[in-house]
Amino acid sequence: MLFSEFHLAPEIQRALSDRGHHQPTPVQAETIPVALEGRDVVATAETGSGKTCAFLAPTLDRLHRSHSDHLAALIITPTRELATQVAREFTLLARHTRLRAAVVMGGESEKRQIEEIRSGAQVLVACPGRLIDYLERHIVKLDRIEVVVIDEADRLLDMGFLPQLKRIMKMVPRHRQTMMFSATMASGPEMLAREFLHNPARVTIGEKTAPPSTVRQSIYPVALEDKSKMLLEILKRPEIERAIVFTRTKSRADRIARMLQHAHIRAVQIHGDRSQGQRNAALAGFRARRFRVMVATDLAARGLDIPDVSHVINFDLPEETESYIHRVGRTARMGKSGEAISLVTPEERVTLARLERVLGEQLEREHVEGFEKIQITAPKPVKLFSSDRSRSRSRPRSRWA
Ligand code: AMP
Repeated sequence: MLFSEFHLAPEIQRALSDRGHHQPTPVQAETIPVALEGRDVVATAETGSGKTCAFLAPTLDRLHRSHSDHLAALIITPTRELATQVAREFTLLARHTRLRAAVVMGGESEKRQIEEIRSGAQVLVACPGRLIDYLERHIVKLDRIEVVVIDEADRLLDMGFLPQLKRIMKMVPRHRQTMMFSATMASGPEMLAREFLHNPARVTIGEKTAPPSTVRQSIYPVALEDKSKMLLEILKRPEIERAIVFTRTKSRADRIARMLQHAHIRAVQIHGDRSQGQRNAALAGFRARRFRVMVATDLAARGLDIPDVSHVINFDLPEETESYIHRVGRTARMGKSGEAISLVTPEERVTLARLERVLGEQLEREHVEGFEKIQITAPKPVKLFSSDRSRSRSRPRSRWA
């Protein structure tokens, strides 16, 4: 594929060629066409994937074509380094247009930044702290913003910028295009996407968004105090030839492995507190079928070449859907079939609801004979943005449904 296929304005096309970019990277190939249609986009992409150009090219195209003469695009970045990088990329891509950018960040001369803003920039690249400061002092107005980019959303949240982000987003017009980029789509960025984006196109590069279709996934609702007992019961099934049991913590992995060994199940544990020698021995034993069950934490299992397993059992549900998909992907490799079983307590219903929402399906519920029947119902949506109540009432329902 070539950039010329996107029908970007010739001035931007030319800047890309000057830059030596002829073929779009995967994140650009997927983001640019939908962004050019004006749709909201949420992309899972890391630095180095070409994401800056993925949002700058369609943004500049829009502002250039509409002969924008006011501040019309806001790019929010977590760090000064990133803001500088985005501004540098902007200068290169906008070189054949009349568009100008201003950069707003801490630790630099205010005077220069304010001059840049006042001299008629159409694009503002800003770190949240200094931007809030300028908004409070009425140095910047965001009431004519048409495009908002939230860059490195996961990092913005890690750095504690959620309150600032919420305040900024309240000041931009409701009718706008919003693009969000994040290295991961954990619960935090997912929540931002739900709150700030409208029916976004999802772009995920180099990452699976769903477990293989050959995996049978099911949920076993269970009371917290019955979890271990239920695991033992499930492991009695002869069809479970080789299983990985995932736990959320190292100490739980140890405890479960000991419990299984005590019940004469050939089990071994693998987690970050075990030495490399112990981990290698565990893996070799599991591979050679000396162990039937391997109890593992997510981190320990990542990047390991674990052989095919017939069953993946989630003793605890992972917090992040991405981890769930990684875990489940350990079975049903090479087109074979496999089964993923998740023990879920009523306390985990929020995590389950989120998982099912991201997977886009309700997983089958199973019952084990001799155990109390438990219903796990999805909780009412948590109002994480309660301060926005008045705003949500006034906005049209369809836009955020
Ligand atoms: P980013 O992920 O935006 O930080 O970009 C990483 C690097 O990839 C930057 O140095 C860009 O100049 C470069 N880059 C972006 N898009 C392309 C492209 N289509 N072809 C080659 N290099 C690119």
